[in-house]
Amino acid sequence: MTARRAPVLAALLVLGLGAAACGHPSPDAGFAEAPPAVRLEALNAVDVRVARVSWTLARANADLCPVNRRRAGWTLQSASQYGGELRPLAEARYGLDGDLPGVLAAPADSPAGEAGLAQGDLILSVNGQPLSRGEAAVESYDGLQANIAVLDAAAARGPVSLRVRRDGVEREVTIRPVLACVYPTQVEVTGTLRSRADGRNIFISDGMVSVAADDDQLAFVLAHELAHAVLEHRTQPDVTGTRGASNWAISLRRGLSLSAEADADKAGLFLLTRAGFDPWRSVEFLTSYEEADRGARYAQVNSGGVYESASSRRRALQPVLADIAARRAANRALIP
Ligand SMILES: [Zn+2]
Repeated sequence: MTARRAPVLAALLVLGLGAAACGHPSPDAGFAEAPPAVRLEALNAVDVRVARVSWTLARANADLCPVNRRRAGWTLQSASQYGGELRPLAEARYGLDGDLPGVLAAPADSPAGEAGLAQGDLILSVNGQPLSRGEAAVESYDGLQANIAVLDAAAARGPVSLRVRRDGVEREVTIRPVLACVYPTQVEVTGTLRSRADGRNIFISDGMVSVAADDDQLAFVLAHELAHAVLEHRTQPDVTGTRGASNWAISLRRGLSLSAEADADKAGLFLLTRAGFDPWRSVEFLTSYEEADRGARYAQVNSGGVYESASSRRRALQPVLADIAARRAANRALIP
């Protein structure tokens, strides 16, 4: 990773920059410039890794999330979401077809994984209802999203019967969804070091994933974003119904935005510990993050709130780590 821009000055005011982003705008990272086949494999590895850690967090913290429902735990993709030279490669690699949802990841501890679904399975119908293949001529995520909505709605009601195709062979699979937080995580190929939560989804950039040396470190980033949802810093009415309508306004009125980032760091540690990840690895992650992004050496303020420097964040985590250790030793509840 090379720095293409000058270091950010201390306490730089970056108004209007990435309202809900956690992290600083950053130099290039990731693999956006690689040849298509290499890019596809790199994307695949990142997606599978993020899907695994996200699912573990979502399932373990279902009872703390303001919005939860029964989910299959898979990450789905479609041919139509790929553009240009990646499309034929993705079709051949994953057996994708139009807007039909293909399994990109089915973590081992998810209902999808437990039912035997795996990467390369193409979902044709749910409970006897065929999913739409669409026109699929143009690059679009819309058709897949519509199919995912059908699948999600079916899963939320209980066990679902799927017709799936793998390597040309069709079969029936029954999935038994379990309660989990509803915020799906999407990987953004931006070559930056960013993660964010908008109350509906969690987003993490390829560069940010590459900074996390292992799943424990990746869990720190994703749990921080999940914590924004748990603490209801960012919610949207279409996700949360009536209670979420004025949530952001309420947060601002209470002045929560000033400490939202620090609060998300702290609550995130609890969430990842509850999911079985090692909270102490967060300290190392912040050191790597600081090395990867010069901007993280300084506190910043933007319209999303106050972003402390990586070293301040490390220091602030120490008493939380001690608190978590004490609670575990005393067998007390890990509630942030
Ligand atoms: Zn944040």
